[in-house]
Amino acid sequence: MRIKALSLFMTLVIFIIFTASLAVYYNFKINVIDDIELRISNTADEIILSIADSPENFRSHPAKFLSPRSEEDISTSDLLVQFMDNNGNVIAKSPNLKKKTLYFVKGDNDLLRDIEIENGLKLKVYQKNIEVNGVSIGYLVLGVKTSHLFSSLNYLRNSLIIIMLCVLIVTAFGWNIVTKIEMINAKKQFLSFASHELRTPLSVISGNAELALNNKFTNDQYKEALLEIKNETIWMSRLVTNLLALFRNESGAERVNKQEMNISELIVTESSALKKRYPKKKITVNLSEVSTIKADPHHIKKVIANLLENAAKYSSEDGKVNIALYDLGKKIKLVVTDDGVGIKKELIKNIFDPYYRINEGRTEGMGLGLAISKWYITAHGGNIFVESTPNKGSIFTIILPRS
Ligand code: ADP
Repeated sequence: MRIKALSLFMTLVIFIIFTASLAVYYNFKINVIDDIELRISNTADEIILSIADSPENFRSHPAKFLSPRSEEDISTSDLLVQFMDNNGNVIAKSPNLKKKTLYFVKGDNDLLRDIEIENGLKLKVYQKNIEVNGVSIGYLVLGVKTSHLFSSLNYLRNSLIIIMLCVLIVTAFGWNIVTKIEMINAKKQFLSFASHELRTPLSVISGNAELALNNKFTNDQYKEALLEIKNETIWMSRLVTNLLALFRNESGAERVNKQEMNISELIVTESSALKKRYPKKKITVNLSEVSTIKADPHHIKKVIANLLENAAKYSSEDGKVNIALYDLGKKIKLVVTDDGVGIKKELIKNIFDPYYRINEGRTEGMGLGLAISKWYITAHGGNIFVESTPNKGSIFTIILPRS
């Protein structure tokens, strides 16, 4: 149970870190790209405005307009500027372009492109028509080096990947430790349970055998000693069967062998057997029209027998036990109700844990039945839960898929 909650928590933490990393990366990327695009268009507007102020000057000396008046938006070292005439011929370009020319498509206006020129240099290129009083006098092509920007983005992406890997490694490591601790705890729990639960029947058996062997007993006394030995052996054999079932479940060795089974018939058989064991109890059965389901008959029998036995065991001698079966379409609902001692609200969460008994003691049982039942029902894709009121009784409900 704790492992399940922990694994859910860890998955949630990993999911949050993963989505947060993705969000950080893409937000950063979008912001950085938006920012550079805004700066390019601002710079272009600034250059075009200065051309519009003195178009004649631009016609005679276009090179004078190659740098923006301010370097507020982009530093000149990062900026590549090129002017084209209306026919697409280069009329001026900034010295940092050297022999290169910027990519240009005649007719395109107000367009941004990502291009890569020689040596892997990445550029964002912006092309805009230069218009003065509605007449086109050429084109401005602006290029901004973006290689450093993409390497920062790559750096951020790689750092986030490393962080994610570290989180995964730490989680796996932590998970390993937690499962080991859980295993040690389970072993400790089992050892203390088994030694405690086995010691009593073993000493009763050996005590009775010893007495019978060392004393001259009457026939009745021998019978009594043998009966005690028999009862203790039955108890031990039930204990061992339950423990083995629990281990098979927990180790993953148990398989669910689903087959068509008549659940109504099973309920009738189990409640009749209960009536024989508890003749004074008022045991009633309500069956709906559900009769067959697809499930493992061995598992379902064990679950029903356990719920009925508990309902009878934890109610008064002449208490009431009811078992009802409902058809929910694709599912069935099985409800076992008793008017017994009930369970305190704060203890309900524990009763499906292995070895858990509200009051330790042999009359109480082994504390294994509900843990095993829960495993069987969950393995069938179903659900088991309880509602209870102390001194009024309990209602155990099972929801099971029909197939
Ligand atoms: P067992 O009955 O063998 O001890 P279970 O796993 O079946 O083991 O039940 C665990 C504990 O839950 C019981 O020891 C008992 O305290 C409580 N319990 C189970 N069923 C009922 C019930 N119908 N009414 C009250 N308490 C119950």
